Amino acid sequence: MRIAIIGAGFGGLAAAYDLRKAGHEVVVYEAAEYVGGLASGFKEPHWDWYVEKFYHHWFQSDSSMMGLLEELGLRDKVIFPRPLTVMLYKDKFYPFDSIPNALLFPGLGFGLNKIRFGFVGLFLRLTNDWRALEKFTADEWMMTWAGKEVYEQMWKPLLIGKFGPFYKDVNMAWMWARIKARTTRLGTFEGGFQKFADLFAEKLRGMGVDIRLGTQVKFIKQNQARALSIDAGGLVESYDKVLVTTSPNLIAKMCPDLPEHYLKGLLELKSMGAVVMVLSLKHQLSKEGYYWFNLPKEAGYPMLALVEHTNFVSKEHFGGDHIVYAGDYLEVGHEYFSMSDEELLERFIPAFKKFNPDFSRDWVKKTWVNKTNYAQPVPLVNHSKNIPTIQTPIEGLYFASMSQVYPWDRGTNFAVEIGRRAAKMMLRS
Ligand SMILES: Cc1cc2nc3c(=O)[nH]c(=O)nc-3n(C[C@H](O)[C@H](O)[C@H](O)COP(=O)(O)OP(=O)(O)OC[C@H]3O[C@@H](n4cnc5c(N)ncnc54)[C@H](O)[C@@H]3O)c2cc1C
Repeated sequence: MRIAIIGAGFGGLAAAYDLRKAGHEVVVYEAAEYVGGLASGFKEPHWDWYVEKFYHHWFQSDSSMMGLLEELGLRDKVIFPRPLTVMLYKDKFYPFDSIPNALLFPGLGFGLNKIRFGFVGLFLRLTNDWRALEKFTADEWMMTWAGKEVYEQMWKPLLIGKFGPFYKDVNMAWMWARIKARTTRLGTFEGGFQKFADLFAEKLRGMGVDIRLGTQVKFIKQNQARALSIDAGGLVESYDKVLVTTSPNLIAKMCPDLPEHYLKGLLELKSMGAVVMVLSLKHQLSKEGYYWFNLPKEAGYPMLALVEHTNFVSKEHFGGDHIVYAGDYLEVGHEYFSMSDEELLERFIPAFKKFNPDFSRDWVKKTWVNKTNYAQPVPLVNHSKNIPTIQTPIEGLYFASMSQVYPWDRGTNFAVEIGRRAAKMMLRS
């Protein structure tokens, strides 16, 4: 078969790998000039490692990703350092990355609240019945079972931070998936995620996959011979099967011939965008060596998370620069999407002194701002009924995106899982 894949993110690359291994002719169309999609990175000339445009790490439980790395002979390039994650309580940051630290966290006191927090966490880790949980909003379930104080201190800030105005609508299966599928140890690839994506693409090219960078697909149509025509800006080619790995909005634009009920389903899915600034600094920001600062919205910080990447991996990989991310999940249309990089920096700068009183403006060497409209799908109550099928109603056309990995939360691990699942379906049919 002649197969096209739209998108060279980890989902598209993983599908290309399996389809090519099965002996098919595979062409990957990628609009950007690089592979890696949302997990791609960039590099300054004096850096040895890439920095992801949006902060990224793996969990030890990311079995689809670790399995793929193993198959590619790259598993030994994955490292799991022990970074420190902290939570804010009454203007002070406390480590919150292990059970002993959670027990010592003063935000929940040392009585009943801590016991409820522990039992709810344990229940969610042990149960597999996410279908029962998706019937409730996380807001109502947590209020009932964890109690008002635990919910408001621990879980509500997470929901508000990730989902803004939709926070009360998110279902409890989303919260379950986060607790179920995550570990406190965090991992990365030596050289950064971009290095891995480049090595993967090199391997695919070696196998005979045609990866066409800088090639944006405009339309996908079924032609009279029932094959699928791809129009990539004037150049039209025909395929037996096509897998699209973009956002639901983009596939809806590319494939206007999809039946109305499927298009409607795609367009009704909600998601949040993200705006993330990367800064290279002359000095370490967190003197304590903290990696991830969780910042509740009500504390008034201009960002949701402050992440000092070089407290996770060594600054030596970046020519001695200290790399910091300041980011937020936002609705498209939020003012951060239209602000200039300079305006955004001015908005963020005053907050940096709260992480280190010695911080001054001249510590900033350079900044990069990355924005995406599609960063985080929003799962509503009974969301499993809203997931678009991988096999679309157009024969031979398949769709695998972040919006379909539910009940799991989006991530490169699940992009690999759904990419390979889609490839299997394409091979079977
Ligand atoms: C702020 C943020 C933080 C994250 N943190 C983590 C993390 O810590 N760990 C983790 O594992 N994951 C994380 N993720 C999620 C992770 O990046 C995604 O789940 C994953 O990269 C999705 O891969 P994908 O292949 O499904 O899609 P994408 O990576 O979005 O790939 C789709 C590709 O399609 C291309 N494309 C779009 N339109 C066209 C067109 N018309 N023609 C051709 N090509 C097109 C795009 O350029 C893109 O390369 C994070 C994401 C964000 C936004």
